Amino acid sequence: MLDALLRPRSVAVVGASRTPDTIGYQILDNLVRHGFTGAVYPVNPSAASVHSIRAYASVEDIPDPVDLAVVVVPKQHVQAVAEACGRKGVGAMVVISAGFREIGGAGVERERELVATVRKHGMRLVGPNCMGVMNTEPGVSMNATFAPTMPPAGPVAFLSQSGAMGVTILDYASEYGIGISQFVSVGNKPDVSGNDLVQGWADDERTGVILMYLENFGNPRRFTQLAREITRRKPIVAVKSGRTGAGARAASSHTGALAGTDAATDALLRQCGVLRAETVEEMFDLAMAFSHQPIPRGNRVAIVTNAGGPGIIIADACEAHGLEVVELTEATRAHLAAHFPEEASLRNPVDMIASANPQSYRVAVEAVLADPGVDAVIATFVPPLGVRQEDVAEAIVDVAAGQREKPVLAVLMGRQGLPQGLAELNAAGIPGYRFPESAVRALAAMHRQRRWLERPVGRVRTFPVDRGAVSAILESARAAGREKLSETEVMRVLEAYGIPVAPYAVARTADEAEAAAAAIGWPVVLKVLSPRIVHKSDVGGVVVGVEDAAGARAAFARLTTEVPERAGIGAGEVEGVLVQKMVSGGRETIVGMHSDPQFGPLLMFGLGGIYVEALGDVVFRVTPVSDVDAHEMVRSIRGAALLAGVRGEAPADLAAVEEVIQRIGQLVDDHDAIRELDVNPWLAFAEGGVAVDGRISVRPAS
Ligand code: ADP
Ligand code: MG
Repeated sequence: MLDALLRPRSVAVVGASRTPDTIGYQILDNLVRHGFTGAVYPVNPSAASVHSIRAYASVEDIPDPVDLAVVVVPKQHVQAVAEACGRKGVGAMVVISAGFREIGGAGVERERELVATVRKHGMRLVGPNCMGVMNTEPGVSMNATFAPTMPPAGPVAFLSQSGAMGVTILDYASEYGIGISQFVSVGNKPDVSGNDLVQGWADDERTGVILMYLENFGNPRRFTQLAREITRRKPIVAVKSGRTGAGARAASSHTGALAGTDAATDALLRQCGVLRAETVEEMFDLAMAFSHQPIPRGNRVAIVTNAGGPGIIIADACEAHGLEVVELTEATRAHLAAHFPEEASLRNPVDMIASANPQSYRVAVEAVLADPGVDAVIATFVPPLGVRQEDVAEAIVDVAAGQREKPVLAVLMGRQGLPQGLAELNAAGIPGYRFPESAVRALAAMHRQRRWLERPVGRVRTFPVDRGAVSAILESARAAGREKLSETEVMRVLEAYGIPVAPYAVARTADEAEAAAAAIGWPVVLKVLSPRIVHKSDVGGVVVGVEDAAGARAAFARLTTEVPERAGIGAGEVEGVLVQKMVSGGRETIVGMHSDPQFGPLLMFGLGGIYVEALGDVVFRVTPVSDVDAHEMVRSIRGAALLAGVRGEAPADLAAVEEVIQRIGQLVDDHDAIRELDVNPWLAFAEGGVAVDGRISVRPAS
């Protein structure tokens, strides 16, 4: 589909320049120097030739067909170039020029016009405001970027939303010998999107791992769908910048206070199996590992070293990342003992001490690879005098090449600069790192990928619900201009979606409160009902453990006199009192939803009650939430052990909680009018559970 862009047979460089050190020169030079297999046509109205190639005044003057036009003219000329390309029948344009949507104002209009022209002529567009595209496929060999370096060919496809980062990254890839299949700097992406590219790379045989440097998601829902499926075939590693800056936070719900765009990004990436890297460096650490090594079957690691320190650092890092530094088998240790001096430590880490030479590495790495209890090997080397790092690298390469089952990663800690041997290792398919942490992080990511592959796909359940009843409640609130549903409306919404709520009644007098309590059964809880009070217990608006008629009357009096005073509202603003069955023995959890402006409904689960913000022990997922997502959510909070039961306590009914999460997921996906929602607490029992409080706010009617 994107052949004109990534496999063109001819490229016009519009704005090709005779002046070195300009982008218009560099792009033409890169195409020629890196052996583009097709024809190249410089377009420059004021030069007869550029870079020794005959130039044309306009794309329309080129006598042959043009698949791709790379445009580097000043922004005000781009539109005319696009029209000429359209008339010429060009297939795709890469617009390097900046000064479009990213500058706002007139730039927005300029981009809109450009896109309209591109669409009108059935062209595809990458950029504007980008640094070009690259495809190392032997039949194409195209470097249509202005990057000064060209990385080797290899299995890594790479998308960069930032042009500047793109240059840095290609540099880095060249230095470390990381092989690239295709590279696209997407720029403002008004046409060709990240999703289009990822989809193409999923089917590209030469691409084994996909890297993304993102600043935002164009269509996160579509990305989730695509990535869920693609990550089962190829790993996707993403760096999403802008981790901080949680954006505007609505204080009216617990979920809103705890959610932020970064939590949403994390949730989204996790749910579709995308490995999130914190930094560009980490992204490449992962890319190196995934490029040529098999992913491990399990998390058991053997470490081979020539010094104690690095061995311990690696072992600690393994532990911190959920990898296990296993006990080697008796047979492995006996084998090693026959080859190493007594001072060597033959437990894991295998420390061959400073006298180790390349041959020692051959023996030790081979031995631990053969150990049936080992899933992966990290070999590390600090250069003592007299041993060449390159020779050790070669030994590791030789041994690792003898098998394709277990990943081998290397850490070469040079004295200065890039240690010798690293590029050689990478070129030979052994990921080589300078620091122990990097290797461990990469291996941990490989293990995560394994777990993802083993994870059941999951399904989004649809429960029988009373959708119409909820629509009616939401619409009547919006018609009345209310943003918040009342306590009783919330209860009815939850009930309509099959979520058990504690029996309740509304009382407007002390007599009614007493009667309601008697009907529900003692003990009860009394709560103030007022649209002006958001967190009832903050103002003493919840009286628990009401045992009898006298207690009910006293509580009623307090809630209707003292509480409004404390809340600073008039007694007339209290609509009455909620009388609710008092439930005991439940563990307090929260299930909530916050609508993220980019990602849509974001579901939250965590330890609930009135301390939820203080604990901050919550996890997020974007909807739709599958049964497997819900299963993972309830088990991935820090306080999961509290739900599983401590000190002989029975475990909380997690299946019931999972069902509530999924039902809430269905509720918020069915009703776009819901802006925020908290069920807090959901009291989880050993069997079942019940909601005793909730909060729903709606979007204003448009
Ligand atoms: P708010 O969140 O507005 O302060 P809640 O209705 O959630 O008010 O009540 C606050 C706390 O009181 C709950 O987190 C829970 O610990 C307790 N509580 C409320 N209702 C009940 C009930 N029906 N049974 C047992 N405990 C309750
Ligand atoms: Mg509450």
